[in-house]
Amino acid sequence: MSNFKVVKFGGSSLADAKQFRKVADIVLADPNRRYVVASAPGKRFSEDTKITDMLYACYAKAAQGEDFSADFSAIEERYNGIISELGLDLSLEKEFVNIKDAFAHRAGRDYAASRGEYLNSIILAAYLKFDFIDPAGYIKFGENGVFDLEKTISLLRPRLEKSEHAVIPGFYGSMPNDTIRTFSRGGSDVTGSIVARAANAEIYENWTDVSGFLICDPRIVDNPEPITTITYRELRELAYMGATVLHEDAIFPVRTAGIPINIRNTNRPEDRGTMIVAESNEASSYVITGIAGKKGLSAINIEKDMMNSELGFGRNVLRALEKNGLNFEHMPSGIDTMSVIVSTDALKPVQQSVLDEIKFRVKPDHLEVEDDLALIAVVGRGMRKARGTAGRIFSALAHAKINVKMIDQGSSELNIIIGVATEDFEAAVKAIYDIFVATQQ
Ligand code: ASP
Repeated sequence: MSNFKVVKFGGSSLADAKQFRKVADIVLADPNRRYVVASAPGKRFSEDTKITDMLYACYAKAAQGEDFSADFSAIEERYNGIISELGLDLSLEKEFVNIKDAFAHRAGRDYAASRGEYLNSIILAAYLKFDFIDPAGYIKFGENGVFDLEKTISLLRPRLEKSEHAVIPGFYGSMPNDTIRTFSRGGSDVTGSIVARAANAEIYENWTDVSGFLICDPRIVDNPEPITTITYRELRELAYMGATVLHEDAIFPVRTAGIPINIRNTNRPEDRGTMIVAESNEASSYVITGIAGKKGLSAINIEKDMMNSELGFGRNVLRALEKNGLNFEHMPSGIDTMSVIVSTDALKPVQQSVLDEIKFRVKPDHLEVEDDLALIAVVGRGMRKARGTAGRIFSALAHAKINVKMIDQGSSELNIIIGVATEDFEAAVKAIYDIFVATQQ
């Protein structure tokens, strides 16, 4: 493994000239920051529009054969504003003409969106005096549209070796026939991870506008403590439950190579941020690493005497869901009871049909649907060693007068999942945070 770093900057870190200057200070402060992956300019203020969204809207008009020149001019203005404020001797006029022409010839929605990172990276490369590498020739998707890591590494690695320092646009690559294809939204995170893997980097720094992950949602608890270190598995559990900072697919390319990801804040470079690592022997500051959750769930509760001795009972219940195309989130069970937790929105259109099917297949004594449920995941590698974690959670919830409707502990002992009424969700998260974090300080 080399000792250099791949650094990715998100849209808010490159939204205007002021942010570009911060990015340059960060990159140039460390000569090991050799490969920079850039997003398209994001929002400068909360009501602002991201360039990517402007490109989608502009292309939608072009594809309809409508006049898109005013929309395109607004995009040109954003880039020209950055160039002139940075005082760069650079003109994107030729690029704009080519892109407009490609829009008029319906070059595709992915091509259109990808121009956001393409143009921004040309500016950043000029500003940093780094090489520019267009990922279209190196980041490859297969015929089926699935990203091809092996092929990409075989093309990208030798190309990176030729550049001491380079800027690479995030978010896109190309298909076998060379047409542009993007990852899903937020996909520059994925590009950063791919470049880190191809470069065999020591670390992948992902610079954004928050100082890493927080133990829980700051809309629920004021100023929650940051998470200093989290493992990939813990992150996956929290992300599944709704915590988002990083694109989910950004984990896989670096994970297998053991390259850690460091989430950092462009606006507060002095903060250490969050380290995402494969394994951590470092004791976490608290027994728990994070708390996340989701609302909008329903439980299908099934009761039948002697259910436990009826062969194929569970399978029959799940067949009823499967037949109706319904996914389930959890399935806590007792001796003569079983619940299946599903998304309320997905259940409602097929609810009657699912219930009829369950009645027909397993002839329950009692069958009901309970709506307005929320799930909370308490995640932490420290829980395996600590005794009494579940006890502490339940006494905290009892103290806050919150009724626990369900509990499920994952077999990895990495998480405990608790079901509560939607109206108790915030209070429950707060009570758990208080008992494990606030009162430990
Ligand atoms: N610009 C793209 C988006 O807005 C990709 C990214 O920023 O990661 O989704």
